[in-house]
Order: sequence, then C-alpha cells, then structure tokens
Amino acid sequence: MALLEVDSIDVSYGNVQVLWDVSLSVEKGETVALLGANGAGKTTTLKTICGDLTPTAGEVRFRGEDIGAMPFEDVVKEGIAHVPEGREIFTDSSIRENLELGAYVDRSKMDERLETVYDIFPRLEERADQRAGTLSGGEQQMLAIGRGLMSDPDLLLLDEASLGLAPVLVDDVFEAIERINEQGTTVLLVEQDIYNALRVADRGYVIKTGRMTLSGTAAELAQDERVEESYLGA
Ligand code: ATP
Repeated sequence: MALLEVDSIDVSYGNVQVLWDVSLSVEKGETVALLGANGAGKTTTLKTICGDLTPTAGEVRFRGEDIGAMPFEDVVKEGIAHVPEGREIFTDSSIRENLELGAYVDRSKMDERLETVYDIFPRLEERADQRAGTLSGGEQQMLAIGRGLMSDPDLLLLDEASLGLAPVLVDDVFEAIERINEQGTTVLLVEQDIYNALRVADRGYVIKTGRMTLSGTAAELAQDERVEESYLGA
C-alpha cells in the first residue's frame, strides 16, 4: 500500500469542474513531482489532498484511510503538511513566531522541531527574532517550508516552492527539499520548473487541463518530449 493514494478524484469549484478522474500515488520515502501548465489543476490537487477541498467523486487515502472528507486541521494531525503557493507567512511576526504557529504539536516537542528546522535552514535560526516581512523572497520561502515541517509531517506537500526566486535561491530551495527527503519526509511537489523538479524527484506525473496525461520515473519523463509539450499546449 502506498503512503498516499489519490484514486480517480473529480473536484469542482461550485458548479465548475476542474479535475476529472485524477489518480496518483506516493510511496513512503519518495519525492514525487506533479507537473503541468498554469491552470492545469496542480494546486487544486494539493488542496484536495490537504483537506481544503473535498472531491465530488473518488477517494484520497493516506496510509489506507480515506481522508477525502477530512477537514484541514485533522489532515495535519494525520501527518500531512501543506506549504501553499505564495508562502502566506505572517510578515509582522518574527521568524520564530511564524514557525511556532506551524507546530500543531504538543508544546513539549516545540524545541525539538525548531532544532530540526534550524538544522535544515540555519539562516532562520540566525534571524529568529527578525520580522518575517524583512526576509528576502528566498528566505521567506524557506520559512514557509520550515513552518510546514514544524508539524513533523510524514508527507510534505509543496506548491511552487521555487516560483519567483532568483536562480541561486532556486538551487537553495531544491537542495533543502533533497535534505528534507533524505531525513525521512516523503515529498509531493508541484512545479513549473520541470528541470529542477525532475532532478530531485524519483517519479513524476503530468496533468493537463484537469486530467492526468503522463506518469513515469523522473528519468523517463526528463527524456519525454510530451512533458514540455504539455506546458506549451496550455
Ligand atoms: P497554477 O500553476 O497557475 O497555480 P494550477 O495547475 O495549480 O495552476 P489550479 O490553480 O489548480 O491550477 O487551477 C485549475 C483550474 O481551476 C483553473 O482553470 C482555475 O481557473 C480554476 N480555479 C482555481 N481556483 C478556483 C476557484 N477558487 N474558483 C473557481 N475556479 C478556480
């Protein structure tokens, strides 16, 4: 049984259906990339997994349990953390305060979790008392990922972690993703940066206008012209 199984889900916003029969799976320990053009349905897929949206058909199973109708707060407790697109950090709060807000763990584990996050992102420890709004774009992204890690997730969902960052910071973010995975967290990431996503991922899926069109190992997808075409065709 895979850690996460998205099984033939349909998802709508009101009357407007945006996902049709979408399936994917993530095995424990893997990094999996979900690729696709603007508006293809990547964010919607992540939001359905994390409990922001409920599928109208199909199932989302985590460790075999159907979590499709579970609210966001309960999904976090099950062990899934979602780092949304656009970071959504609290700019007036300090870095430490932002991290503490992501905890969802008993306070006794707070220091342990902070240590783990600071170990991955030393810059955040150096600036723990600084107002989050004064961080650079790249540092804010690190903070958003760090906040996700505070709940000690088994599965981390990352939405466009590298979007809008300078190339050198993009490298830093992907390096951090690799380290997080090496330390035992399973990762499902949504990306427009095909090259870097397939570099760090074990496997990938391509979604196009709300339907899954391709899947394979990262090496297979990196060589498949249809991956890039699915972006151009949107
Ligand atoms: P991007 O890379 O631009 O974020 P995406 O692949 O993540 O794209 P989604 O954000 O999942 O795509 O959007 C899928 C479709 O759902 C799009 O057609 C979008 O316009 C539509 N959509 C997204 N959010 C809403 C909403 N709140 N209400 C109605 N339609 C929405």
